[in-house]
Amino acid sequence: MNKKPKKRKKSLPQKDKPRCGLCGKTKNLVKTECCDNWICDDEQKYVLFSYARNSCYRNHRRFTLCGYHHTEGHPGKWQDCQICKESFQTEMYVWSGTNEYNFEKLESPPKYEPTKCSKCGNIIVLSEGGYSSLGKDYFCEICTEIELDD
Ligand SMILES: [Zn+2]
Ligand SMILES: [Zn+2]
Ligand SMILES: [Zn+2]
Ligand SMILES: [Zn+2]
Repeated sequence: MNKKPKKRKKSLPQKDKPRCGLCGKTKNLVKTECCDNWICDDEQKYVLFSYARNSCYRNHRRFTLCGYHHTEGHPGKWQDCQICKESFQTEMYVWSGTNEYNFEKLESPPKYEPTKCSKCGNIIVLSEGGYSSLGKDYFCEICTEIELDD
């Protein structure tokens, strides 16, 4: 193949062009209000009620502690924020602080027990949705459907 002898053509893309810290795109970027990182200015692409998670901007604002912390106007850094910690179940707190929509992830996320279906005992992944809850009980998607069919 035609290997170019010229160096540093591909090696420093980071500095010269700002790119979205989540997906790497270089077009239509804005800085996030919460943490001053470059991100796709793509929120208008989001279709209301579609629940699509294809907007970097929206994902960061809605599904991360950083975005939540900023929206709620908490003081200090989200990483040390006690209010954030208490606002979520530990499982969701950890997910929000470590998911792919974060620029910076929670360094030592707290441990938690997985959430289990109160009926069949299957593990429920809260961040994926599809479950239902009643008081302290959680029901997986399948058990929820069975309930509804009765
Ligand atoms: Zn992006
Ligand atoms: Zn942020
Ligand atoms: Zn907070
Ligand atoms: Zn179940």
